[in-house]
Amino acid sequence: MAAADVKVNAEVRDLTRIERIGAHSHIRGLGLDDALEARAVSQGMVGQAKARKAAGVILQMIKEGKIAGRAMLLAGQPGTGKTAIAMGMAKALGEETPFAMMTGSEIFSLEMSKTEALTQAFRKAIGVRIKEETEIIEGEVVEIEIDRPEGGSAAKTGRLTLKTTEMETIYDLGQKMIESLTKEKVSAGDVITIDKASGPSTKFVQCPEGELQKRKEVVHVVTLHEIDVINSRTQGFLALFSGDTGEIRSEVREQIDAKVAEWREEGKAEIVPGVLFIDEVHMLDIECFSFLNRALENDMAPILVTATNRGITRIRGTNYRSPHGVPIDLLDRLLIISTEPYSEKEIRLILDIRCEEEDVEMTEDAKELLTKIGHETSLRYAIQLITAAAIVCQRRKGSEVDIEDISKVYSMFVDVKRSTQFLIEYQEQYMF
Ligand code: ATP
Repeated sequence: MAAADVKVNAEVRDLTRIERIGAHSHIRGLGLDDALEARAVSQGMVGQAKARKAAGVILQMIKEGKIAGRAMLLAGQPGTGKTAIAMGMAKALGEETPFAMMTGSEIFSLEMSKTEALTQAFRKAIGVRIKEETEIIEGEVVEIEIDRPEGGSAAKTGRLTLKTTEMETIYDLGQKMIESLTKEKVSAGDVITIDKASGPSTKFVQCPEGELQKRKEVVHVVTLHEIDVINSRTQGFLALFSGDTGEIRSEVREQIDAKVAEWREEGKAEIVPGVLFIDEVHMLDIECFSFLNRALENDMAPILVTATNRGITRIRGTNYRSPHGVPIDLLDRLLIISTEPYSEKEIRLILDIRCEEEDVEMTEDAKELLTKIGHETSLRYAIQLITAAAIVCQRRKGSEVDIEDISKVYSMFVDVKRSTQFLIEYQEQYMF
């Protein structure tokens, strides 16, 4: 592949990114004020004031370009919001900031070398903002007509008529296509924009096509990893959907880096360093740690946020023990922030936010019970019960989740403590 052929646009741009981080969808930032103090409840964030403020200070350093080659470590018990804070940082940096997430143990189960897995993770967290000129058609939706075959639900064909000041444009296409083009449901009266390059076949009436087209500069952000995947001949862009990208040859990456450097020089592209979050960082081994040390030296390096719930433990792949199981030379680069367990009041507030996020109506009593459960088991367990209880409530055709629904799902799904208790009581019946 010649560097000149590097592909970045059409396919990647139109990919709908699959959100696999639903549990944190309520987090919209760190919830800090201008003095970087944590507001009690803001942007989906509750409590953990010290850690949020510290994360805010790091963000400020990032924005001022003072954190090159540095990284941070969030240390605290499970479910104390380490992932939530990392997400909050990414959101605070802006919608287009890439956020990549992995767990330390994942590295040993992937069908690729550890360095390849880490390289992919780093490149998923580095965005390239590319400026391109494209032809667009902008107009008001006059009419949408979809053929619905008798008894069938899938609309295979239809037409969308757009009206601009100059003319009307008719598109022959299905509702699904219309939605994928406009990225949302459209109805008559809406003003929409269609990208001519990836647009469908059109019929123009009244005036010649030329008058309707406009040139517009569009800016989009793709990650280096996405560029790698669509340019690696063996896989192609479809691999982005399945996540099954395999190893990517180093020549491909070198050529892409050269091309991106050229675009940066020409002013066509800029690097957007994102956030790479590595949970359970103590699960990485010494080889991975030296990779991280090296990768952080790169001038395109993303902000590395790591997390652990371990104290002093053995560094994997060695016989040495060290704080958090992280070698001292890497630890030295890390700004360490600790997170603390939540109070009942804070758990209640987080549950309120999650209920709202998931559109679940819940009675006061049920919320109180769920808060107690969260306090005694774990916050994450309580959050999971919201969804399950809502389904149970729906089944009995109730409009509000009540105590009964919570009790039902509490006995249906055991938390870790009860599951362990069960194993201890019945251990002779299990195979070892
Ligand atoms: P682990 O160590 O097990 O990875 P964690 O410390 O990363 O746990 P999270 O996954 O961030 O914990 O928290 C559990 C759930 O609680 C998530 O849904 C998260 O979004 C939510 N949550 C945690 N802390 C907060 C907070 N301060 N404000 C709002 N939501 C929170």
